[in-house]
Amino acid sequence: MIPSILPTYNRAPMNFVKGAGPWLETDDGRRFLDLGAGIAVNALGHAHPALVQALTDQAQAVWHTSNLYGIPKQQDLADKLVDATFADTVFFCNSGTEACELAVKMARKYFFDQGQTDRTDIIAFEGSFHGRSSAGIAAAGADKLTHGFGPLLPGFAQLPFGDHDALTAAITDTTAAIIVEPIQGEGGIRPVPDQCLKGLRDLCDEKGILLILDEVQCGVGRTGKLFAHEWAGIEPDIMMVAKGIGGGFPLGAVLATEHAASAMGPGTHGSTYGGNPLACAVGCAVVDIVADDMFLANVSLAAGAFRQGLEGLVAAHPDVFDGVTGSGLMLGLKCKAPNTDVVAAGYDAQVLTVPAANNVVRILPPLNMSHDDIAEGIARLDQAATALAGGASA
Ligand SMILES: *Cc1c(COP(=O)(O)O)cnc(C)c1O
Repeated sequence: MIPSILPTYNRAPMNFVKGAGPWLETDDGRRFLDLGAGIAVNALGHAHPALVQALTDQAQAVWHTSNLYGIPKQQDLADKLVDATFADTVFFCNSGTEACELAVKMARKYFFDQGQTDRTDIIAFEGSFHGRSSAGIAAAGADKLTHGFGPLLPGFAQLPFGDHDALTAAITDTTAAIIVEPIQGEGGIRPVPDQCLKGLRDLCDEKGILLILDEVQCGVGRTGKLFAHEWAGIEPDIMMVAKGIGGGFPLGAVLATEHAASAMGPGTHGSTYGGNPLACAVGCAVVDIVADDMFLANVSLAAGAFRQGLEGLVAAHPDVFDGVTGSGLMLGLKCKAPNTDVVAAGYDAQVLTVPAANNVVRILPPLNMSHDDIAEGIARLDQAATALAGGASA
């Protein structure tokens, strides 16, 4: 008999009912250290006082009115994001894959309105992930996402990761945009080197096409900058944001330059829930905290401590781990043991991590983790690796 919840997920047997900072508690009273943060969502940990306050204040005032009317908190959040980023304008949605939908629509409409109606193709990269909507799976193209769901939305191609020549050759007069994650998340914490991001920007400028960055996972302070592309000193034309921006409340956004967004007038796109007062109240609180130089400097400090700890684990458990990848607090432990075994051994040690492709275990902790909690996280991962290696302590 089919379960009452559609069985699309493989769930671990824990039910979390309470959280504070990086800690989560199960319904049977066990405490776990959360190094996955709900897949890079709980950027400020669980039950952050400023976020709880923002949400409850808004809940007392008004929950939902729709985009038929002005939404003051949505305006505030848009202004904050325009202020803090390359963007001139923002559309709010509820998830990363909805952000992908609009990014694709915006790029196509941009060229359509310029009379270049054949310029509809989007170039993506192998190993990428852009969500589970029809555009998202067509963009990423991997068989495990698309199998059985055809006919796929046309107009997408996937190129090998890091092959600049193949990319240059693939751009034709039907190409509208390149879509890329500055750091692939699901793909196994694979950063695009700064030089390559610069190269992509130059190539898009030279060919007159748009650069769409998917910062759904790597954005909102995760790398120690508000957005990951800032490290490369480049700016996209369109950027997808979700996950961390809501700090745990469903919220996504598409940020764009005035130029790239120029074809999106009234009636061209919409969302009933998008930019809802509750979501935007929390989003404002998140951005107020994260878009601060001191906060971001502390992310980099925490990241240094975490990375050092992880390098120590790799050295101590060469049979379990192969190396560390990533940037800031978007880190990956490349494993020799099956990554799902490492994650499961973490459950026994009461520490949460997230598997990714390429046999990687993702470490995506809250951005405001204390150094004591980081040390505790490393100790628990050490315990997990020791158990996995047969109990022989390294
Ligand atoms: C998670 C993710 C998405 C999809 O976000 P949803 O909110 O699950 O729809 C898209 N792109 C990237 C890079 C992601 O990590």
